[in-house]
Order: sequence, then C-alpha cells, then structure tokens
Amino acid sequence: MTANRSALLSVQHVHKAFGGNQAVNDVSFQLQAGELLALIGPNGAGKSTTFNLVNGQLTPDSGSISFDGVSMAGRPPHALWHMGVSRTFQIAQTFGSLTVAENVQMALLSADGHALSPWQRATHYRRADALELLAQVQLGSQGSQPSNALSYGDVKRLELAMALANAPRLLLMDEPTAGMAPDDRLALMALTRRLVNQRGVAVLFTEHSMDVVFEHADRVLVMARGALIAQGTPAQVQKDPAVQAVYFGSGKMFGTNHPSKTGPQP
Ligand code: ADP
Ligand code: MG
Repeated sequence: MTANRSALLSVQHVHKAFGGNQAVNDVSFQLQAGELLALIGPNGAGKSTTFNLVNGQLTPDSGSISFDGVSMAGRPPHALWHMGVSRTFQIAQTFGSLTVAENVQMALLSADGHALSPWQRATHYRRADALELLAQVQLGSQGSQPSNALSYGDVKRLELAMALANAPRLLLMDEPTAGMAPDDRLALMALTRRLVNQRGVAVLFTEHSMDVVFEHADRVLVMARGALIAQGTPAQVQKDPAVQAVYFGSGKMFGTNHPSKTGPQP
C-alpha cells in the first residue's frame, strides 16, 4: 500500500457490537481509487458487518469512516449512492417482471434523482446508455429478455450493470460470487477487474474463499472473529501464519466453504 496517496475510503478504528458480540473489533483499512480490495475470512468473521458499516446500513459504535475525506458513517445507503457509492448484494436484487434493459434504466432513473416505483416501466429512459452498460457486463444481447429468465450468473452481471448506473467511484460487493459455479465466480471477478481498470473505480468485495481473490485482487484483508488478522498482496496473506491457521487450521484447503464452522478433518 502506498501511504502517500490519499485514500478514497478510509476506515479507522471501527467497532460494532451486537449485544455482547463484538462483530467488528478495531478494524482499520484504506482503499485507493482503481484498487480492487478483497475482504476475506471464514463465516462469522465480521465481513458483512464491516461491509454494512461502509455502505450505511449500520452505524459504527466508534471509529470513523470517510469517503474522499468526508465522513460517511451513519449516512443511509441512498445518500451514499448519490455520493457515488454503489453496492451489490449477496442475494441479487432485480425487478424480475421488467426486462434486463429496463432494470438498468430504473437504476439510471434513480441515479438521475427520479423517484422509482417498480410497477412503472422505464422503457424509453436513456435506453442507449442502458445498453452500453449491459455491453460492459457482457449482457449486450439480452436487453429485451425478461430479467427473471436470466441464469443466476447473468443476474449477478445485471446487478453489476445496475450498480454502475450512477458512475460510482466506490463499488461495494458483498460475496458477489455466492451461489455461483466455480467458472462463473472467476469470470465475474475477471469482469470486475476489467471494470476497475477501465473506470478507475475502487472496489471492496467480501468473499469467504481465497481462490477467487488470488488472481484478481490487488490487496487482501483477512478477518477472523471480528478482527483484521492480516493484510497484504494475495501472495503475502497466503503465506501469513495467522491466515494459514484460520484457513488450514480447520483442515480444509483454500477455496472450500465455511472453513470456521467445521473442526479438523481426519
Ligand atoms: P461474515 O459476513 O464474515 O460471515 P458477519 O459480519 O455476518 O460475518 O457476522 C459477524 C458476527 O456478528 C457473527 O457472530 C454474527 O452472528 C454477528 N451478527 C451479524 N449481524 C448481526 C445482527 N444483525 N444481529 C446480531 N448479530 C449479528
Ligand atoms: Mg457475510
């Protein structure tokens, strides 16, 4: 990490507890424009809580979160969206009754500050821009299909196109590859990598398996039990003894599901 470049996203000493459960414990990290940062760790490590603190769904108990030097802690997601912060969800969220293009057009309407209602169609609104966004996520030929006819992997691409509709400077993706087949996972990460390079957008994505992040992340943060236990390049964190204890100590190899929930395997 280069300390002398100013960070787009800066998270400093953030804490969040649920009752007596310290879900996020003194987490600090920075993210630069044009950087793809992976937040990994076993289930229950605190990834989604950290993610939801950054995207405005949760407010930290203490600590600071700033975007381009402006405090964003406690601002609701729609306010962050208008500041140029987009997110995708672990469970893809689209309007199934609309066409693929119309879903993107709805996101463009929202990005332009218009009120949304899912039963209203946006058939003519910025159609060319919507099709251009679809082309960027390799759905260029599917604009007229009903979105509920898409495969799961394509729904994730559509969701990505919708997240790009407000020309974000920061894109937040919570387990974007959850539920995807291995080839689709790697393809989605490769696509995200290309978008980072082309647009200079900063991306924070959470992921529980390590294999998905090796090839495409610039930097990896590793959480376990609420704390950040390592950060560095994929090669650095892979060699880190604390990371190995979390991933290999469970008896499971990189890339398998839910390593923390299972004990050592025979
Ligand atoms: P991850 O995304 O890494 O799997 P989470 O951030 O979802 O982990 O969860 C971290 C810890 O916080 C877990 O112990 C989880 O049970 C707890 N937790 C998460 N969200 C809530 C919530 N809304 N209410 C109570 N406990 C929660
Ligand atoms: Mg999670």
